[in-house]
Amino acid sequence: VPTASTAPAVATERTLILVKPDGVRRGLAGEILRRVEAKGYRLVAVDLRTAGSDLLQEHYAEHAGKGFFAPLVDFMASGPVLAVVAEGERVIEGFRALAGTTDPTGAAPGTIRGDLGRDWGSAVQQNLVHGSDSPESAAREIALWFPTL
Ligand code: UDP
Repeated sequence: VPTASTAPAVATERTLILVKPDGVRRGLAGEILRRVEAKGYRLVAVDLRTAGSDLLQEHYAEHAGKGFFAPLVDFMASGPVLAVVAEGERVIEGFRALAGTTDPTGAAPGTIRGDLGRDWGSAVQQNLVHGSDSPESAAREIALWFPTL
């Protein structure tokens, strides 16, 4: 809700959100998008697709070599994900707050992971959503998932 203000300006940003295969499979894509829109962010692009392992390895490049990397890529390729670009003032930080902590079992109630997620046999892996963690990550990830944007 933009209003006239003498306070310092806050830059509009874009972030990449993924509803992971567990979220799509459980029918939670709409509920997750609802929370993003209810917070006041604007949807810029939305695309449901099953991602290939090349894209997913690139997306999670910072985790290459870790024990959870290969299982994570397999999980992320196991069904469609909903890739979303959302826009708004401080949306990168704002969506991370909406998502909650990485571990869904311990995530705070009120967050997407805290309200809707928990462990399902593999620790921490199925936590419903991804959100870019910095402006640099957001730019890199948006170019990866939406090269024409
Ligand atoms: N992950 C996992 N095992 C771990 C840590 C992370 O499977 O021990 C997965 C989980 O799906 C997480 C993703 O790897 O969302 C990326 O991890 P990161 O630490 O970047 O967490 P996020 O930024 O998604 O909260």
